[in-house]
Amino acid sequence: MASLEIPQCDRCHHPAMIHQEYSGRTLCGKHLADSIRKKVAREMRKQVTLNSEGDTTIFVAISGGKDSAVLLDRIVEAFGPRPDVRIVAGCVDEGIEGYRAPSLDCARELAENLEVEFITTSYPELGFEEMDEVVKKLPVIGDGLAPCSFCGVFRRQGINQLARSVNADMVALGHNLDDMAQTIMMNMQKGDVERTIRLAPHTHAPLTGMSPRIVPLRWIPEQEVHAYALHRKLPFAHGECPHAPGALRWRHRSIIATLEADVPGTRHGLVHMADQVKQLHLDSRGKNPSPPSNCPNCGELTSGEVCKACEMVAKLESYSEQVIDQ
Ligand code: SF4
Repeated sequence: MASLEIPQCDRCHHPAMIHQEYSGRTLCGKHLADSIRKKVAREMRKQVTLNSEGDTTIFVAISGGKDSAVLLDRIVEAFGPRPDVRIVAGCVDEGIEGYRAPSLDCARELAENLEVEFITTSYPELGFEEMDEVVKKLPVIGDGLAPCSFCGVFRRQGINQLARSVNADMVALGHNLDDMAQTIMMNMQKGDVERTIRLAPHTHAPLTGMSPRIVPLRWIPEQEVHAYALHRKLPFAHGECPHAPGALRWRHRSIIATLEADVPGTRHGLVHMADQVKQLHLDSRGKNPSPPSNCPNCGELTSGEVCKACEMVAKLESYSEQVIDQ
């Protein structure tokens, strides 16, 4: 009977945990973790600029999921020992029954384990309806908008509000390589060059009026972030949001996964392409596009007449009018 061959790590010949089609490397848990640490540290050196005079506050947006758990773990290792850096982790509660409560518990546990300050806000505290209520209204509102169209906009405001509450100098987000590639593909599909130009990291081209976003995990594939979180035994929630299926991002997720399987390196290529578009824009105009004004309703920055969140709130208010008319 033929023996089952277990692939070995390229570095130490221990049983492998992962094979990277895009690099040709096969790695055990320890050497995968070492490689992730190095890549994230290199990215942080490029993306993080500490204040030369006075302290720097890094606000880390965490969700209770694996990506932001790994992000906080890496940021604490890099900056936790520094007396001139304050790290604050924060989580936005969207009001999704059965999903948010356990992930909020994981986020709190992670922050406690890493001895990091932890703050939260919720959609009602921000003046928005809970997502479970929003979802009930969508069939009446029509427009073909998915729950995530509302939730993404509201959550962004929540993160901005939490970051402002601690006077953050930068906001760290846990976007991995797959997230970045999906976002770039979605922007391309919509022909939205402006959004590609505004894509994080913002270190060398901050957007006026906003704490710059940093994305230190942007070169780490989702599967490897997951493996690292397990390897480090970080607390994270495994559940999927019940409102996620059907969102445009899910379709892009599957397209990117298929392309990556057919042509390894596709995700890296998309992120490199977006970096080059940003650089070309910087070279030609000298700075990033700035949201020109404050929303007249809520004061948030917007490139339109009113901000996206107020636009979404108005759509939800149209629900009541439509129900009364029926
Ligand atoms: Fe919100 Fe969509 Fe994420 Fe669910 S999947 S938490 S609805 S953005």
